[in-house]
Amino acid sequence: MSSRGRSPRACARLSYNRKVRILAFLTGALPLAAASIAIQDVTVIDIASGMARPHLTVVIDEGKISRVGAASSIQLPAATRIISGRNKYLIPGLWDMHVHLYYKQYLPLFVAFGVTGVQDMGSNFSQVRAWRDEIEKGSAIGPRILTSGPPVDGGSSNDPKLPLLVARTADQARQAFDQLYKMDVDFIKVLSRLPRDAYFALAEQARHWDLRMVGHIPSSVTAQEAVEARQKSLEHMFGITKSVANEEEASKFFERCTLTGTRVSPTLVLWLRMSHIDDTRLMSDPQLRIVPASIRNTWPDVSDDPTSFRIQVWRIYRLVALAKRAKTEILAGTDTGDPYVIPGAALHDELEQLVEAGLTPRDALEAATLAPARFFDAENTMGAIEKSKLADMVLLNANPLDDIRNVRKVDGVFTHGRYYARKDLDAILESRQTAPLP
Ligand SMILES: [Zn+2]
Repeated sequence: MSSRGRSPRACARLSYNRKVRILAFLTGALPLAAASIAIQDVTVIDIASGMARPHLTVVIDEGKISRVGAASSIQLPAATRIISGRNKYLIPGLWDMHVHLYYKQYLPLFVAFGVTGVQDMGSNFSQVRAWRDEIEKGSAIGPRILTSGPPVDGGSSNDPKLPLLVARTADQARQAFDQLYKMDVDFIKVLSRLPRDAYFALAEQARHWDLRMVGHIPSSVTAQEAVEARQKSLEHMFGITKSVANEEEASKFFERCTLTGTRVSPTLVLWLRMSHIDDTRLMSDPQLRIVPASIRNTWPDVSDDPTSFRIQVWRIYRLVALAKRAKTEILAGTDTGDPYVIPGAALHDELEQLVEAGLTPRDALEAATLAPARFFDAENTMGAIEKSKLADMVLLNANPLDDIRNVRKVDGVFTHGRYYARKDLDAILESRQTAPLP
């Protein structure tokens, strides 16, 4: 008997809700009917074309972009709050496509670094849903959140922060799917220990009910099988090196990813951390100060032998270059939530590493803006600075197309209809400095 199509009741309504999550960000009621904001005479970075368009004025009304036009021709009502964009650069808000939302204290830190959206790859679902509601209502500062809730794996969790749904058989996988569907998660995340039968049963449900399945490639399946099962994104490049024998096979694999719309999120900063290449830098990073001591004190010392990972890291960078050549869509992610990862700042690191791997600065920016928009099927809503799109934007003091490190030079952030000037962002960072470094 085929179990295809089994699903919770009220599926039509849930499915509708999921599809419009991003749209809800656009139409959500803002707490204050704030005055218009205008960024005057700014250079707008168009990610799609890689063009810098100077001397524009961008007007924000109720969290949306209401006008973009030549600075010389736009008339602004008297009540408009004007922000000078002279010698500054405006990019769409950045998305970190792989985080774990374990700590509420991290939420404003993302915004402080221009990360206005995060894809949460596993956490406490009811907690994160409550945080998301607070952010969307305007009672907390934080990024837009899409979340998987508990990931599905073949064994129980050894991390209390990361609850899992355990599926050892196809039937248990279908039950897990129903449970997640009913919870109204935004997508499904799979982990490495999922057995084959469970994996393929889950993938079938995900395809049938049009819910994105993303995550690790379980060790029980090959990378090629994961792509054919339409897993929508392959996290960390786990499982790819063992599934391709050489560069030619890797290229063929990525060409297939491009055709099927499979994304890769290499999380190069995770590989660097695992290799401990910068051991001392990792533990003495001055930016660690912004992470509350209560969180830092739970982190282990970095001391394992990194030799085997160093070889891997080199291969992963090479895979990124091959993926780019095959035009596979790359997503920028960091695994923030892990020890020694600075929320928000880690995304700047990831963009820099993507350029190290062979992407242009434009490609890297795309991986955190337009590529997420396409992945969410929300190009009409985000990913570009155009009329009627969500006004989640970052003002920079230098052109990131010239040098990706300029993405660190954040002068202001716009999200949820609000403007955070540099001094506001500094206040967010200062408030996290609860203790000196150990
Ligand atoms: Zn992760």
